[in-house]
Amino acid sequence: MKKTKIIATIGPASCTKDIIKKMVHAGMNGARINTAYGDTAQYQNVIETVRKVADIPIIIDLKGPEIRLKTSQKRILQKGEIIEVGFNGEEVSFNHNFYDTVGVGDVILIDNGKIRTIITEKTDEKLRLLVIISGTIEDGKGVNIPNKRLTVSTLTDYDLEIINFAKKFDVEYIALSFTRNVCDVEDLANVYNGGIIAKIENFEGVQNVNAILEVANGIMVARGDLGVEIEPEKVPLVQKSIIKRCNQRGKLVVTATEMLESMVHHPQPTRAEVSDVANAILDGSDTIMLSGETAIGQYPVEAVEMMSRIANETEVAVKSKVEDTCFVNISDTVSRAIQRICQSMPLDKVITLTKTGYTARMIARFKIFQPIIAVTPDIKVKKQLELTFGVQPVCIDYLTEKDTISFVASKLYSSHLFSDKETVLFTAGARTTMRHASNSIEIHRIEELRKFFKK
Ligand code: PGA
Ligand code: MN
Repeated sequence: MKKTKIIATIGPASCTKDIIKKMVHAGMNGARINTAYGDTAQYQNVIETVRKVADIPIIIDLKGPEIRLKTSQKRILQKGEIIEVGFNGEEVSFNHNFYDTVGVGDVILIDNGKIRTIITEKTDEKLRLLVIISGTIEDGKGVNIPNKRLTVSTLTDYDLEIINFAKKFDVEYIALSFTRNVCDVEDLANVYNGGIIAKIENFEGVQNVNAILEVANGIMVARGDLGVEIEPEKVPLVQKSIIKRCNQRGKLVVTATEMLESMVHHPQPTRAEVSDVANAILDGSDTIMLSGETAIGQYPVEAVEMMSRIANETEVAVKSKVEDTCFVNISDTVSRAIQRICQSMPLDKVITLTKTGYTARMIARFKIFQPIIAVTPDIKVKKQLELTFGVQPVCIDYLTEKDTISFVASKLYSSHLFSDKETVLFTAGARTTMRHASNSIEIHRIEELRKFFKK
């Protein structure tokens, strides 16, 4: 079984039932909807189609404090030209008001950094920009202001509309673009109680990532904008350090953007792209993500297949980077013990009974060789765990059972998730209702344990 998880962004190239089915078959574990494009009717269609095909999480990507250009006309900006841009729906305007936080001489980049401009004048809530590198602007193009702290609000009215939509469809995750600090995550958490993936894609997010990951459920290394906001050569080490930190805390970590970019137009990736995917896995990513490759590319299914092939080949060599720490909680300590056990005896599987998914992630961070079956009574947690490295989630309601281990074992046995000859390790919170307290470890040979199933 493939351990590395794959998110595919669904777009015009992949929104049919047939393509989604093929992508799931090829190894897709989560479907991302990018709300920079399309409308809620289209998103609803994607959600319903994905849910018909597979039991995988939906990730709604919220734009949050992402800055975009608004203009009714597509046009070329020539080098040397001066363009006036406002904040209040003028001919060309920005979607967020950051007038007070920028000054003459600041650089403003448009369309993934392709167009470079400099602020030459500030008057009446408008900026005059001198074009240094030319290019074409059109409605919705992304805007980056490198190395700046912008005091724009986290959630726009449009975001709030999308959040309500996400709640209505009970989606498993919202990914928050341009998360700058803990407050951004809290603003979202105040109105939404599902999983939150904080996208780190600017300088401020990188600086505050330690605090951000304490409150978010996961982190996305959003390398597209990150490469524009900080220098692209800084991205590889930032990626490694964020992933390591997430692994240490057992937080979901996704590496995203341009992983197989050339597959937008070609059936084969470049060697460098293959290496990039492999290295993201070796760094410790739970999940790797496809964006344009599957949303608008010519080879969406092939891109997922390629990622799966790279994952299968590479993940056998992933090593844990989790360091020893002082006592954190019982699940942290017990997961360390489980890693040792997995290395010191022939063991086929690890089964964790987990209400919130916490213990499953704490074990998964060690990148153990054995598959981890995470058994949870919560259907939403089950789907959320679909994105965690090495974890196969299963939904079983064991809460009211007296002998939970026997009950779960018999269910898994009848679903053919393990067989008589296998030796498996169970961990669960026994005689406790405390959180983060998987306090027991039992090791059984299944044919032996089966004698107790019926007792
Ligand atoms: P986006 O975020 O695709 O929503 O821009 C990912 C990134 O910037 O890498
Ligand atoms: Mn981005």
